[in-house]
Amino acid sequence: MCGIFGIEGCDDAANLAYLGLYALQHRGQESAGIVSWDGGQMHVERGMGHVSDIFKEKVLARLPGKRAMGHTRYSTSGTSVIANAQPIVVKTSMGPLGIIHNGNLTNAVEIRRRLEQEGSIFQTTSDTEVILHLMAREPRRDVVESFILALEQVRGAYSLLLITNDGLVAARDPNGFRPLAIGDLNGCACFASESCAFDLLEAQPVRELGLGEVVVARGGRIESYHLERAPEPARCIFEHVYFARPDSKVFGDSVSQARLRMGARLAREAPAVADIVVPVPDSGLFAALGYSRESGLPLEFALIRNHYVGRTFIEPKQSIRHFGVKVKLNPIRELIAGKRVVLVDDSIVRGTTSRKIVRMVRDAGAAEVHVRISAPPTEWPCHYGIDTPTRGELIASEHSVEEIRRFIEADSLAYLSLDGLLGSVSGPRDSYCTACWTGDYRVPISAEDKRQAELFPIRAEDQA
Ligand code: AMP
Repeated sequence: MCGIFGIEGCDDAANLAYLGLYALQHRGQESAGIVSWDGGQMHVERGMGHVSDIFKEKVLARLPGKRAMGHTRYSTSGTSVIANAQPIVVKTSMGPLGIIHNGNLTNAVEIRRRLEQEGSIFQTTSDTEVILHLMAREPRRDVVESFILALEQVRGAYSLLLITNDGLVAARDPNGFRPLAIGDLNGCACFASESCAFDLLEAQPVRELGLGEVVVARGGRIESYHLERAPEPARCIFEHVYFARPDSKVFGDSVSQARLRMGARLAREAPAVADIVVPVPDSGLFAALGYSRESGLPLEFALIRNHYVGRTFIEPKQSIRHFGVKVKLNPIRELIAGKRVVLVDDSIVRGTTSRKIVRMVRDAGAAEVHVRISAPPTEWPCHYGIDTPTRGELIASEHSVEEIRRFIEADSLAYLSLDGLLGSVSGPRDSYCTACWTGDYRVPISAEDKRQAELFPIRAEDQA
């Protein structure tokens, strides 16, 4: 879960990277960073928190140059500390290098153990750092060659940007788990996780990077290389379900339109005798709209979200009760009282938030609450870059739909089928990764990496 943006050959590159990151804030709210190259040296600024909190005018002024890239981070590998914030910038025999990463490597721990035994000293606990170590051990006159050699050794999900004293390099793994697109801003190449970043800059989207493609932008030219491993598409369909912004286009589909289709299919697969459809904001908005249009039931915005709640919200201590979900969501009684409500959301992870929301809607006077989820039950953890808890904490891993319904105290509960979900996006069905619903992990996870993920699961308080 991260957002990446880079730009090559443009005045005020760091300012443009800041704007790009601003549009990609939803992909990671834990830390952010920008690195620039001014023709002589690298400049880097990183911090914990939101992009707008870290990058004030004074900070951006310390990032001169026409080449820059930035990252918004939500950790899926490595802990949430400033040392793990990206970009990671190092000095090597090939010159300074900076790297940013969206995704999760599935053999990073294994590689790291080997390199440590051979004497490498790691600065972070993030999986991304192994790529730099692999590069530093096999230097080449053209740093791109060394980058490709390193990428041939790692497995898993990576959309990467590498900044060098010679250019900006973008790479996408042969499975294409995470999105990464090329844009054009007045003749300058730019790269972004999602097209909404191009929209803000008024850059023209050019195309998505191919699977296993490495694109080099230098000297006003674009060169393309391909990794040896044959492409095997496994695009993360959860990008469409939850993660990407609805005004983005990813994997060739408009996210909002895909969610509308999911909602419409859900209405056909799991109709409800009810009076109104209510989205859980923001994740359920478009699926609820699709459900409402298809079912003919009116859509009511009866849950209001406070958008200013960050991860840094301090729960009041002792004397004041636990606020829980109320900090984030508040129901509008006038819209709900006496109504049979269809509550639409995109997923149930642990079930704890959903249970609180159902209770909140009932407390606001709902006659009945029918929960509809625009994806199948999440049964398996993601090892490719979405932060999910361990299998045992996923309510659907050990409980039937009826048991989950009882737990969240809904009058009825239904999920969109996998068939319905895959039918809502335009690519061939087998070109998507569906591991979180099926357990079908297309790229194996090394035993050491799996153990590490189990030892350091995502904290409950970070979820939802
Ligand atoms: P819960 O009922 O506690 O499982 O929480 C369900 C909520 O978590 C839904 O509103 C989802 O949109 C949201 N959600 C799903 N996946 C994630 C994720 N990876 N990170 C944060 N929130 C998520």
